[in-house]
This record gives sequence, C-alpha cells and structure tokens, in this order.
Amino acid sequence: MPPAGGIDLLATGDHHVETAQPNLLGMTRAQLEALFTDLGEKKFRAAQVLKWIHARGVRDIDSMTDLSKVLREKLKAHAVLDVPEVSYDATASDGTRKWLMKMPGGSSVETVFIPEANRGTLCVSSQIGCALDCSFCSTGKQGFNRDLSAAEIISQLWVAAKALEGTSERRERRITNVVFMGMGEPLLNFEPVMAAIDLMMEDNAYGISKRRVTLSTSGVVPAIRAMGGYTDCSLALSLHAPNDALRDEIVPLNKKYGISETLAACQDYLAGLSDKRSLTIEYTLINQVNDEPQHASELAKVLTGVPCKINLIPFNPFPNSGYERPSNNRCHRFRDVLLQAGYNVTIRKTRGDDIDAACGQLVGQVQDKTRRHERYIKAVQIGSTAAEIASARGRVGRA
Ligand code: SAH
Ligand code: SF4
Repeated sequence: MPPAGGIDLLATGDHHVETAQPNLLGMTRAQLEALFTDLGEKKFRAAQVLKWIHARGVRDIDSMTDLSKVLREKLKAHAVLDVPEVSYDATASDGTRKWLMKMPGGSSVETVFIPEANRGTLCVSSQIGCALDCSFCSTGKQGFNRDLSAAEIISQLWVAAKALEGTSERRERRITNVVFMGMGEPLLNFEPVMAAIDLMMEDNAYGISKRRVTLSTSGVVPAIRAMGGYTDCSLALSLHAPNDALRDEIVPLNKKYGISETLAACQDYLAGLSDKRSLTIEYTLINQVNDEPQHASELAKVLTGVPCKINLIPFNPFPNSGYERPSNNRCHRFRDVLLQAGYNVTIRKTRGDDIDAACGQLVGQVQDKTRRHERYIKAVQIGSTAAEIASARGRVGRA
C-alpha cells in the first residue's frame, strides 16, 4: 500500500487549485486516517467519510451527518470535496455510455462504461494525452498535456457509479470491473494511479475485487517491478507485436524495454500475488502490419510458458492514421493460429460506435504540450506517405 504519509503526500497531486487544501475525493483510507489523526480525531472517521463520498455519492462535507457539526467545520477548514463537472453524457444504441469530465485547466477526460450480460466494465483514463506515441493510437497522436491527480482518476468512477447505480448504500452494483484503458499510460503517473486503485478496491468506497481492476500498460518495466509493493490488481500488457523489430516501430517504448524483459517483469509481478492470476495480452490487429499468420505463430512462441489470455483488438481507425482495420477473415485466421497453439484468445467487439467510444478514439481534445500533434498534422497536410508520417512522429517522440 502507498506509504501512509498523510496529507503531505497530496501536496503535488490532489490539491484544490485555489486553496491548496487536499481534496477528500482522492484520499485513500490511510491518507484520511493520517488526516484525522493530525486533527486529533479517531481513525474510524476515515471509513465514515469514505462511505459518504464513494458509497453514498455526497458532494459536500455538510451532508456527512454522522460527523458532528464541529467536526465538519474542522474538516472544512483543512480539506475540500471537489467533484468534477460533467460536460457530456451520451448512451450508444448498444448501451455503452460515455462521459466527458471537465478538468481544471480546460481539458476534458473521457470515461466509458461497457455493459455486458454478466458484467459492467468502466474504462478510465490516467493522463490527459500520452507521451508514449504508439503509432496506432489517437491519444498518442494528440501528444501529452498533464497527469491526472488521484481525485481526478477516482472521480471518473464516482461520476459513473452515481449515474448508473443511484446513491443508496444498497445500490445495485453495475460497475463490476474497471480497466485503465482510456487515455494515458497509468504507470507513468504512478502514485496517483496506485491511490485511485486503492480506493476502487476499498470496501468502504467501491469494493471492487482485485481480480476485476486491471491496469493496462505498454510496458514501463521499472514501474511494473515497483507495483507489487503497492497493489495486487490485475495486469494487462499491450504487446501488439511478436518481435522487437516490429514492436520498436509501433510501440516506441520497446526501444527502451524489449519484449523479453517486459514479459519477465509482468510474470514476476503476477508470481508475487497471493492468488493465481494470468496476464492479459492486448494485441491490436493492424492490417498487413502485424496481422499475418506468421506473426501469430511467432506470438505463440514468444508467449510459451507465460500464463496468459490474449485479447485481440481490431484496429479502430481514425482520420489520417495511415493504418487500416483488418477484415474479419484476417482477424479470425490470426486467432485460429493461437487457438490451435492452445491459447485462451478472444477478439474484442467494437462497442459504442455511434458515440465514438471505441479504444483509441478517446477524443477529449488534448492541449498538446509536446508539439507532436502540430508536426503530425503538418506531415499529413503536405501529403506524406504513412512511412514519412511515422518518421516525423518518431522524431518528435524523441525530442
Ligand atoms: N497506455 C496504456 C493504456 C491505455 S491504451 C496501454 O497502452 O496499455 C488501452 C488499449 O487500447 C491499449 O492496448 C492500446 O494499444 C489500445 N489502442 C489504442 N489505440 C487503439 C486503436 N486505434 N485501435 C485499437 N486499439 C487501440
Ligand atoms: Fe499511450 Fe497506451 Fe496510446 Fe501507447 S497505446 S500512446 S501507451 S495511451
């Protein structure tokens, strides 16, 4: 668990913009206990506050009626309860629902709920934009703006739970799973993401099982190695290629941490958990780039001995990506090679098409601080080939 450093921990992340007071919304149980101890109060107050905020969805400290008036005033003098403004809320014909939340600084963050027969999955964002520049990802193309605080990450669950489940304590749990597959690389925003995961699993908050909270990463090896000291959530690795040469091209981070080193870090993380769990391998299928049957055979070899399930994601096109989605036949052929090799493999269905809620289409206009977007658009405008665009983007990625 994160060090129970109390409110100091929040000095850089979860502070209220004007007042620099900590935002209760993003504070873990340990952090709230430290706050109450500092205020000369009993630790059990933390559980009460967590229930009010996360289980009952209250948006102001005055509504916490099992705290005395004096204590509420004391709390208000030392902390705030800031919840985000929802600027967009739409439901697709298949039930997929999407929210845009306005964050301080003007950018929006996107969150998607995907209902299925036996579960409901919320897909959350961890950063505004992403610095890692994977060649097939629209978030990556938009460049990077900033990290989200723990409060801003958990606020996505707060808003969705309130909208979907009502506010009664006996509410029906419609959000059974959470995946970090929205905008951003969660392991490049480590502490706030770990704090948000803690709250997702906390019984007094959302009580989601550790097996049902999944962090998806493109492979930040030192952070994968550090994770075990903070959490026991599930892990997904965005692999997308069966060899380093190809992965270097489409996931530039691979140049720093190659496939075998990355898989070893994931396996070590899972081996350190108290229960048996497999790694989810995400593989975006891009037409004629990484979707040939020989890529599938190579993938089967690379994953030998790795307890995993493979999730194939047909590429979701976006303007000027330079890539295409493979035909269903090509996807099935790829899958069948892996099935024959004995892997548990599924092809992800596209959901929420009519509200642009698919993977990699998270369009909450990022104000790019890397100038990557600008250069990319310029390359597209002068009619470059896909290869030239990729190289222009690669140069910016290294800048
Ligand atoms: N940064 C993390 C989590 C966010 S991306 C990561 O890369 O894992 C979540 C998933 O969406 C990743 O597996 C990513 O590869 C996939 N994705 C991104 N853009 C996509 C696109 N255009 N089509 C299909 N999948 C995409
Ligand atoms: Fe970032 Fe993930 Fe997109 Fe890569 S796929 S650019 S790591 S959000």
